[in-house]
Amino acid sequence: MPRKHRFRLTMPKKSLVQRNRNAGAPSDAEWERMEVIAAFQVDDEQKFKKGDFAILLPDMADPDNPPRLHEFWVGILRDIRARHIHGENDVWVRVQWFYSPDDVKSLIKSFDASTCGRYERVLSDDFTIVSLTCFSDVISVKEYVESNIDQEDIYACERDQDTGFFYRYDLEHRARTINPKHIGTCLCSIPYNPDKDIMHLCPHPSCRRWYHRTCLVIRGSIESKVTKREREDSLLSSSPDSDEPFPVAAYQHPVPMPSPKKGRGPGTGRGKGKSIVHVSPLATLPEDLLETARLPIVKGAKVGGLVGNVRGVVAARRIVYAALEGREPVPKGWREKVIDGCKAIREEAAYGWEDEAPPLKCPQCQGAI
Ligand SMILES: [Zn+2]
Ligand SMILES: [Zn+2]
Repeated sequence: MPRKHRFRLTMPKKSLVQRNRNAGAPSDAEWERMEVIAAFQVDDEQKFKKGDFAILLPDMADPDNPPRLHEFWVGILRDIRARHIHGENDVWVRVQWFYSPDDVKSLIKSFDASTCGRYERVLSDDFTIVSLTCFSDVISVKEYVESNIDQEDIYACERDQDTGFFYRYDLEHRARTINPKHIGTCLCSIPYNPDKDIMHLCPHPSCRRWYHRTCLVIRGSIESKVTKREREDSLLSSSPDSDEPFPVAAYQHPVPMPSPKKGRGPGTGRGKGKSIVHVSPLATLPEDLLETARLPIVKGAKVGGLVGNVRGVVAARRIVYAALEGREPVPKGWREKVIDGCKAIREEAAYGWEDEAPPLKCPQCQGAI
């Protein structure tokens, strides 16, 4: 939530109804002549600069009793300019608006606002010039690309502590079109609502689709007889870089290997200081790396976050494959990449999943997901 800043004047009604009703706003010609400035401060406290994302108190809201964060208006400060009136700086900002899902619904009837997250916004091509007094606080707004398997974490779920906003669609407000289309990749075509849904990803390049857990269960896309270990091996073999499963079984049989222990133990040959042990290549890898690589790829507030564990699990599987194939040993910084950098995996480790994932299969390739 914004800091102790006391909210000031309300902003005039948003341009969705009528453009630029901000009383006293400079005309286009005047705007062109105004001095370009890089930043401004409100109440000697909060600084705003060009390019910042900010929240603005909505029209009709009471500055002394502000609404909850998700009810604020959100915009990008695209240009800041000042004019000089009676020796004082009069600062105005050209804002590019994020529409709320309800704003979009009022523009595009077919848009289903209920399939958006509470902290979701839609990036519009609608701009207004507003006074500096309208700005309440700087806020984080992250772009979410659902097809990106390397998507960074986004803290914008109802359960997140330090919540910001996110967006995944662009709106051309005059043409009333949304890009990409407001259609989910699941069998039901309903988009992902991070606050409500649990989704599973098939990472194979020719599948690469997210499915609602409930849709797969209802459709019966579940392995009937499978042990925990078989399920984990199927998940481990589901490659993000190939449509063929990775041959996990080939690395499960013990093979002779030099002992990882240094020093000259008994049985060392010819003074080299190495002994031979029989061990499966899989067993030589760090246990928590394997544990992560064997997780289903999921997302949703209920299972660890908006973006989910996709980046961490994909990174873990790639590291495991490269090590087993002898292409690259497990890098020293693997933990940072796989576990520390992925919120969902940290949460899973700390709290456990809210409910156990059933042994789901991809409806397209029948692989474990
Ligand atoms: Zn579905
Ligand atoms: Zn698949």
